[in-house]
Amino acid sequence: MRFDGPVLFHPEAGVLDADAAVAARVGRVAERGGTVLGRTRALPVEARGDGALLRTDGPGIAADTVVVAAGPWLPELAGSLGVPLALPR
Ligand SMILES: Cc1cc2nc3c(=O)[nH]c(=O)nc-3n(C[C@H](O)[C@H](O)[C@H](O)COP(=O)(O)OP(=O)(O)OC[C@H]3O[C@@H](n4cnc5c(N)ncnc54)[C@H](O)[C@@H]3O)c2cc1C
Repeated sequence: MRFDGPVLFHPEAGVLDADAAVAARVGRVAERGGTVLGRTRALPVEARGDGALLRTDGPGIAADTVVVAAGPWLPELAGSLGVPLALPR
């Protein structure tokens, strides 16, 4: 990797295999009885009473709580909940 500016180096830092980490997390959800909907696009979330209705391009899901962890795509989904977010470029 090439860097144009200062770089933070920590001698005790480690390396994580991102693909393996995601696979492990997904596997853990399934082991604990959760449902993983792969290749399913979350559409804007609708607040419904005390909860929310999450529409997807697959099944819809009614939930008490929705955690949106969409990374750089967060503003698109968070905006639908009336939480305007602007990430720095
Ligand atoms: C090139 C690069 C190198 C990096 N290197 C490092 C590093 O060395 N060390 C480090 O600590 N961090 C690194 N990062 C940062 C790290 O990748 C992020 O901080 C981390 O991935 C954020 O995790 P997240 O789960 O919040 O979001 P993400 O990993 O971005 O995950 C968001 C997920 O949501 C999904 N999604 C988005 N919208 C929808 C939708 N509507 N429906 C369904 N799914 C949706 C996306 O497909 C994605 O899988 C790097 C980032 C980049 C771009």
